[in-house]
Amino acid sequence: MSTHTDIVVIGGGAAGMMAAIKALQEGCDVTVLEKNPFCGKKINITGKGRCNITNTRPWQEFSAHIHPNSQFFRSAFYGFSNQDTIELINAIGVPTVETQGKRIFPESMSARDVSRALQSYMEDLGAALLCDADVIAVKRDGDSLVTTFCRTGGGLPEAVSSEAVIVATGGLSYPTTGSTGAGYDIARSFGHTITERFPSLTALKPRRYDLDLQGIELENVGLVLYVDKSPVQVEEGDLSFTDNGIEGSIGYRVSRKAVWALSHGQKVELELDLKPALNLEKLEARISREIAAIGSSRSTIGATKLRGLLRTFMPQALVKPFADSHPGLGADNLAAALKSWIFKIDSYTGYERCVVTAGGVSQKEIIAKTMCSKLDPGLYFAGEVLDLDGDTGGYNLQIAFSTGALAGRSAAQRILNSRLVSEEG
Ligand SMILES: Cc1cc2nc3c(=O)[nH]c(=O)nc-3n(C[C@H](O)[C@H](O)[C@H](O)COP(=O)(O)OP(=O)(O)OC[C@H]3O[C@@H](n4cnc5c(N)ncnc54)[C@H](O)[C@@H]3O)c2cc1C
Repeated sequence: MSTHTDIVVIGGGAAGMMAAIKALQEGCDVTVLEKNPFCGKKINITGKGRCNITNTRPWQEFSAHIHPNSQFFRSAFYGFSNQDTIELINAIGVPTVETQGKRIFPESMSARDVSRALQSYMEDLGAALLCDADVIAVKRDGDSLVTTFCRTGGGLPEAVSSEAVIVATGGLSYPTTGSTGAGYDIARSFGHTITERFPSLTALKPRRYDLDLQGIELENVGLVLYVDKSPVQVEEGDLSFTDNGIEGSIGYRVSRKAVWALSHGQKVELELDLKPALNLEKLEARISREIAAIGSSRSTIGATKLRGLLRTFMPQALVKPFADSHPGLGADNLAAALKSWIFKIDSYTGYERCVVTAGGVSQKEIIAKTMCSKLDPGLYFAGEVLDLDGDTGGYNLQIAFSTGALAGRSAAQRILNSRLVSEEG
């Protein structure tokens, strides 16, 4: 391996591979250091192994799914948009399909097709890819940055110097994929601030979680998040009860604010509305009709018939846990119970199984138009290591692709421009 190159990319995930691809296309030499034996280990588990590559919503809608400040992401998105992602992924041999919610997947529904195609394309463009290389430090040495790494299996630390380093080490979620937070230490060593980090898009665990709920999936239900008794977020969509707690698209959507609140000692409750399309009045009328249809009345309906009635409003598996958690349930309070099933949330699943890390390298110290550090002109950041995260629906991979593309292109252009200037001088 050459001990000097134009650009070192640390991390061969979605952001790192895209950064390398764009820098190589500009004409720079690029070395990618990845601590796993291959690139894109996390890509392989995205979208339950199917990889929700991006989302086709236009910026006005897309930006509502980006946190904590979508304006920081605007230049990156316009520089390499969701449409650019689709075009590139298609061009490197992975046809894509759009599914419900404007989500894009590979036609094969195989995440591995995406990671393999990106790695092959990056290598075809001439990337020097060094796997099993765990970066331990980056230091400035005059005009160069020196990146030190250890090979898996031992040996003395090795070093490579470069004019720019792109840190694309990911966040803290699913550490088994290689994302263990090394990029934060590198950022701190250059004086960067790391904003408070917390798991997002994660399971919320109710107090006294009823095991009978596990495995139940609900479609088109409503969910209100209460923090210290105030409603702070309202969602409608799909929800699932898993062994970890409440998940599914709307469970995940409220998890960002819920986890933040829990970790700051606030009370968190979720109110599940099993019939969001009907207001209380219409639901009462519907209940009356259903009771009449089974030849009963509100005052005479017994426990057995009530359970049968519940079956018309929810999946069979939900009937027992619903009835168990509503003692004293009768025809008169059924509508209110269906519209407002309260879950007190005590805890959440941590980094070991959350989808994304919220918080990270502070946006304030990064130039949004280039992804370059304001503290060192050779240092760039891309992907989940940044204080930038999105909702479920393909937003996080697009963050990685857009910020990676911008960092790669900006680093390369800065190097090539400075060479031009010194040649002309
Ligand atoms: C279960 C799951 C499902 C998901 N599904 C989706 C989805 O369908 N759609 C979507 O948009 N997002 C999804 N996400 C989120 C998305 O995968 C991430 O936000 C995105 O992959 C982040 O990309 P990244 O390149 O910044 O980081 P990563 O993908 O984490 O890549 C970082 C790379 O850096 C390497 N690295 C770390 N430290 C070092 C070091 N010191 N030296 C060398 N290499 C290092 C790691 O090994 C890793 O390969 C999912 C996440 C999870 C966990």
